[in-house]
Amino acid sequence: MSNRIPVSILGATGSVGQRFVQLLDGHPWFEVVALTGSARSVGSPYGETCHWVLPQPMPTWAAGMIVSPSDPESDAAKVAFSALPSGKALDLEPRFASAGVTVCSNASAYRRDPYVPILLPEVNAEHATLVEAQRRQRGWSGCIVTNPNCTSTGLTVALKALQDAFGLRRVMAVSLQALSGAGYPGVPSLDIIDNIIPNIEGEESKVEWEPRKMLGELSSDRLTESDVLISAHTNRVAVSDGHTVCASIELEQPVSVDEATRVLAEYQGPESSRALPSSPKPPILVRDEPFRPQPRLDRMTGKGMTTVVGRLRPDPIFHLKFSVLSHNTIRGAAGGSIYNAELLVEMGLVG
Ligand code: NAP
Repeated sequence: MSNRIPVSILGATGSVGQRFVQLLDGHPWFEVVALTGSARSVGSPYGETCHWVLPQPMPTWAAGMIVSPSDPESDAAKVAFSALPSGKALDLEPRFASAGVTVCSNASAYRRDPYVPILLPEVNAEHATLVEAQRRQRGWSGCIVTNPNCTSTGLTVALKALQDAFGLRRVMAVSLQALSGAGYPGVPSLDIIDNIIPNIEGEESKVEWEPRKMLGELSSDRLTESDVLISAHTNRVAVSDGHTVCASIELEQPVSVDEATRVLAEYQGPESSRALPSSPKPPILVRDEPFRPQPRLDRMTGKGMTTVVGRLRPDPIFHLKFSVLSHNTIRGAAGGSIYNAELLVEMGLVG
């Protein structure tokens, strides 16, 4: 009998759900015991109902599983990885937490809740302890933790390294976001081929606020946001996977490109984030070629978990500018949630 922790994937048939299935195949700590979906797919074998779009073959254990309803009563898992649409997450995730399940969510529904941490272990592993206050406050034996939105992810990792070393004041960020970030089937092909769509509904406010929560400080039960100011433009581009953000930043002090490069390249997250099965190795890779990072070439760096920074140069308005690339369905979604769950297990926070 396996002694791995039983886990379920809520919304397993979608873009992020498929990534969970692929990344949890053979995971050393977690064993998938349930795959859930909407009324469209409940009762069908996963292999028949899921439109699999990943290059890796669907694992055979998953293909044969019958898709179940997203319901804590019919779920034996200790950890639920949620890839539900936000509206559904709002209703369902507290029901799982109340039933004693640790919910690691990709949905935005609870990111603004003051008792729910937005976690990136290599940035703010210590925020995980906020779930103790959440449990007391809500009377839950389980809990909810979230990932940031996939565009905030790589940007925040880079900002954290620079904030720690130099202090951070203001950020101008322009995103070039991949199609898989819109879920499946996502943006109609005739809208996006030969095109850029200069708005992603609701995205700019997430990118302007979520990094402030993650870069903030936790003292006892209270998270104080960082006062960094962020202005974001978010764009959808015809790239399959990998979100790029072009950022200009103002620091507390001027720094040379060499010094910033060294700080980013040497960045190590908190001790507790470093040796987990999904820890990015390295957390940040700095490329010095003038035409990198590129999504097609660089998104799988560190198995898709590493944040890739390039084009570091002086900024004539602020201090520094650069491009940052992060794989949106791996580091920015399923891989990020799995890394969060590993951190919670390591910290003894999974009931
Ligand atoms: P998606 O491709 O549209 O998949 C949605 C999933 O939710 C499907 O498995 C669907 O099941 C299920 N679902 C829909 N309605 C449901 C219901 N009423 N009850 C139970 N399950 C239901 O979306 P996605 O891109 O994977 O995104 C999932 C979540 O992650 C969203 O909250 C999104 O904002 C967030 N997120 C996505 C990314 C990304 O890069 N894509 C990154 C970070 C965060 P059926 O197929 O059975 O209908």
